[in-house]
Amino acid sequence: MAKYTGSVCRLCRREGLKLYLKGDRCFAPKCAIERRAYPPGQHGQGRKKVSEYGLQLREKQKARRIYGILENQFRRYFEKAERQPGVTGENLLRLLERRLDNVIYRLGLGSSRSEARQLVRHGHFMVNGRKVNIPSYLIRVGDVITVREKSKESPKLKELLERAGDRTPPAWLELEAEQATARVVDLPTRDQIDATVQEHLIVELYSR
Ligand code: SF4
Repeated sequence: MAKYTGSVCRLCRREGLKLYLKGDRCFAPKCAIERRAYPPGQHGQGRKKVSEYGLQLREKQKARRIYGILENQFRRYFEKAERQPGVTGENLLRLLERRLDNVIYRLGLGSSRSEARQLVRHGHFMVNGRKVNIPSYLIRVGDVITVREKSKESPKLKELLERAGDRTPPAWLELEAEQATARVVDLPTRDQIDATVQEHLIVELYSR
């Protein structure tokens, strides 16, 4: 499967805002957006006019980049969101939030979504007592996520659990860091999703 292997900071600069793709570095003065807050490339500082289509496209790209999703998969999420009752844009963001890698990130067990994704891929977590190593796995209300016994000994997981214990996860998740266990108590509402995306523009783009 195609995978973006370039500089992720370039993606933030292209979207003109912090997408928080690099963990701790995103909060340091070294953040590329802090130093060069204009699009990358030779004409980065010259681009000004953006068409309506351009705006819609940028919002879609931004959402894809925040959650680290490839185009075809993103389109499938959109189609699924369209089939669900309610507001399509919100359904789309809720689906993206429900991905296991995102949930691990939201719990603070990963300094970025890509780190959380790697931890999931390496099989460090169980959902309802069963090992799940699929980052796109969609969690449901009532699911219990635990760190596997073997993984609790890993210095990396120990450190992440310690750090996560000092933070407050979003209200739809409950974390007991000492037990290395989390519960999904609800699905996120739009105001609990802090992705700076205007989802209606994505809906307009795909409805063209
Ligand atoms: Fe984006 Fe983080 Fe890089 Fe800053 S450090 S440009 S927020 S990925």
